[in-house]
This record gives sequence, structure tokens and C-alpha cells, in this order.
Amino acid sequence: MPHTAPLYRNHVLLLSQSFFIKDNRAELLLHAHKYDFDILFFDDVSRFVDAVAKDGGDNLYVIDLDALHNLQADMPDGRRTLMLGELLQRLPGDHSYVYLQSARQGSRFLLQQRLVDSHCLAYAEKPIANDVLVDKLFKLFVQKKRGDPVRMVVLGEVPGLDDAALLARGVEVLRHPDAQTLHLRVKELQPDLVLVTDTEYGRTDAIVRVLQKNIEADPVREIALLQCRPDSLLTRRALADGFDAVLANCEPELLAAQLVSRANKIRINKDLIGKDRATGLLNKVGLQQKTQGLIWRAAQEGCPLAFGVIDIDKFKTINDTWGHHFGDIVIKRLSLTLATQLGECDLLSRFGGEEFVVVFWDCGLTEGRRRLDAMRQAFGAIPFEVAPGDTRHFSFSGGVAAYPDCRSENELFLRADAMLYVAKQGGRNQVCIGEAGLVPA
Ligand code: GH3
Ligand code: MG
Ligand code: MG
Repeated sequence: MPHTAPLYRNHVLLLSQSFFIKDNRAELLLHAHKYDFDILFFDDVSRFVDAVAKDGGDNLYVIDLDALHNLQADMPDGRRTLMLGELLQRLPGDHSYVYLQSARQGSRFLLQQRLVDSHCLAYAEKPIANDVLVDKLFKLFVQKKRGDPVRMVVLGEVPGLDDAALLARGVEVLRHPDAQTLHLRVKELQPDLVLVTDTEYGRTDAIVRVLQKNIEADPVREIALLQCRPDSLLTRRALADGFDAVLANCEPELLAAQLVSRANKIRINKDLIGKDRATGLLNKVGLQQKTQGLIWRAAQEGCPLAFGVIDIDKFKTINDTWGHHFGDIVIKRLSLTLATQLGECDLLSRFGGEEFVVVFWDCGLTEGRRRLDAMRQAFGAIPFEVAPGDTRHFSFSGGVAAYPDCRSENELFLRADAMLYVAKQGGRNQVCIGEAGLVPA
């Protein structure tokens, strides 16, 4: 039964037998709260199913399959025990689930197959330590939020391709009519996938070499040939020329499916390179790429940008006093706090260990300082329970610079970092934009 009104941002609905979870409940909750999510415990299948059905889908639904027969269920025939198949059937099919199973269950392939085929988001094997389970669940929350569309530029005629349907599945389609200017368009749009029809390739076979040999070419970008007519000679030539993949243009729907699956792989590769695994935020590489794009857009639209650098105060002391693991949690909580205050076009990056960067779109220097300072206050207000009954508050310092005063990403960073240094020198827990712009704590 839900035990508390929602206080936290995310929720896990956990179906488990009551006697198993009783001992673990307090510890599990303590870990979860550190990651800003709450766990609602259920020991009754019907109530769990009702709650899941009513839920919007932003939460995680976890089912402990261990000793399934002890789960309380009001079966029509008066039985109190429930078979696995019956349970799986009752779960709302428009959500996906995390299954906790025993090693014995995991060793039975047919059972395993049944689980992964039953709206399975992930499964975990027990025993699993509370902190490990909570950390994995946090990663699933992070993954759920991922979803930048993969951008594809198409050269040539592709009949029947449904742009709107592809966009709904995470692929943004942009068309370019001319082989000789494709490399310029690619430079401007920085697509993740370039699709070239065999007709266009047949006409201008240097296309792919021109794209691939650019020293600044994104290594994750894929260039695919769309082959409408089977021609193994052409396929061989295309692969030798540097195409990453050859897709068969069978039917528009099959082509769309192939594109979506390539896009999903590209997204994973992009995330591995450009995102921080612990927080799901952009890392240094991802930030550099995105900031360049944002500066380009700001120049086109005549908008200012504010670039803020954040560094947690006395973080070494936090690590030394309460341990590295606790330090990691402080970092994750900061990342969550910052993320809640972002606009749709803003960027947020975990730049290094306990250093973060935010880029505010269409925002000048003074407004940037105000927004970073609001983040500073929000972080400072978080109570961290370092021991039962002992809560502490932490702080960060920040520096802000703005485009177009600073023209490049590098200039922005150097200037903001210099301002961060001023903030540290000025006593920490403050945001600086220069001598006159000091915001007292
Ligand atoms: P200051 O107020 O001057 O910033 O003091 P500080 O102690 O925070 O100093 P500094 O920024 O130089 O120290 C950062 C420390 O953060 C050093 C490093 O051991 C620790 N650190 C870096 N990355 C991580 C991480 O991922 N997790 C944890 N727990 N600690 C980290
Ligand atoms: Mg530092
Ligand atoms: Mg620091």
C-alpha cells in the first residue's frame, strides 16, 4: 500500500511480498531518497495493478518474483496463490516492468524468455544489495529521459518515407537536393546519419569521401547507402568508398524500421561518448559539441547566451569526512537540482568530477547570474542526512560569462572559470560575473 504522499520527483512502485521487504524497507528508502526518488510498496496484486494502470508512465514498476505464491491476490476461485503467467497477464500492457528474480529462476531459459517477452524493461537477479538496486533504478530513470532525436540528412529521392512517423520514433528527417553542396549542409546541420540513394551515389561517387575525410567529421556519424536496385558491384564499391552501411530499399515501412534501429544504435554511441554515465548529463565532449551548435544558432538568431561554471565548495572535505560514496551522491543530487531549473534549449553538463557547466539560451550576463544564483540557493537548501538526525547543507560557487561578449566556447569557458576563481576567493557560496557583479551569499 502506498505509505506516503509523494515528496520526491520520481517514484518506484514495488510489488513484493510483505515479509521479504519488511526488513529492507527502511534501508531501501533511505538509499532511494538520496537519489530523489521514493518507493511505494505494494503487497497486493490488484492494488499494484490499479496503481500502475492509473500512472502516467514516468515512474518505474518493479516486481519481485521471488516466492510468487506468497503474493496476496484475490483470485476469482478464492485461491490466494498466483501463478507467474496469471500475474504477467494482469499487468497493464502499456507500461514496462523491472523483474527481480532469483538465480534459480534465471537459470531456466523458458522462464527467462517468458519474462523478457512480458513488457520487460530490465530484470535483475537476487540477492542484490539495496544500494546496488537503487543505483540501477536511478540509471533506468536517467535512461528513460534520454531521447534526443537522431538527425538524418537524405540526399536523393526516397519515395514513401513518412517524415512525421519517423520523427515520432526519434529520427528527424532533413532533405538535401544537391550532391555538390551536401558537405556544406552536413557541416551546418551536424547530422548523425546521412542517407545517400544509389542514384545519387552513381552520379557523384566522391560524396562519401568528401564527407569522411574531413578532419572534423564526427566519428559517430554514419553514412548509409540506400540501395534501390540490387547491384553487388555497386555495394562493394560503396563499402570500399567508406559507406558505413548499405540499406535495402524494400518497402517504405521496412526502410523506416531499419533507420530507426540504426538511429537507436547511433544514439547509444553518442551517449557513450558524449554523456556522463553516473548522472546522464552531457560530459565535456558532449557539451563542446552542443555549445558549438548553440553558438551557431545564437549567431543566426541574434540571441545572447549565458555560460555558467559551477564547482562544489570544499568537496574534498565532504569526501574525507563522509566517504567517497557519499560524495558521489552529493554530485548526483546536484545534477538533479540543476536539471529541474533548465529551460528547453539550455544545456547542462557534468564537466568534470564536481564541476558542472550550464548554458542558458537567450539569456544575458545579469540574467545568467540570477539564474545560476537561484540554482545555488536551491542546492544550498537540500538537507543531506549524514547520520540519523544529523543533516548538513552544502554549497557551490559559480562564475558566469556571456555570448556575444565572449565569442567562442573556449573564451566563454576561460572567462566563466576566471569568475569562478573570484567567487572562491571571495569566500565561496556565491556567483560572480566580474568585480561589479558579485552576489553575496
Ligand atoms: P574548493 O571549494 O576550492 O573547490 O575545494 P574542493 O575541496 O572542492 O577542491 P577541489 O575542487 O580541488 O576538489 C575536488 C575533489 O573532488 C578532488 C577529488 O578527489 C574529488 N572528486 C572528483 N571527482 C569525484 C567523484 O566523481 N566523486 C567523488 N566522490 N569525488 C570526486
Ligand atoms: Mg573542483
Ligand atoms: Mg570544489
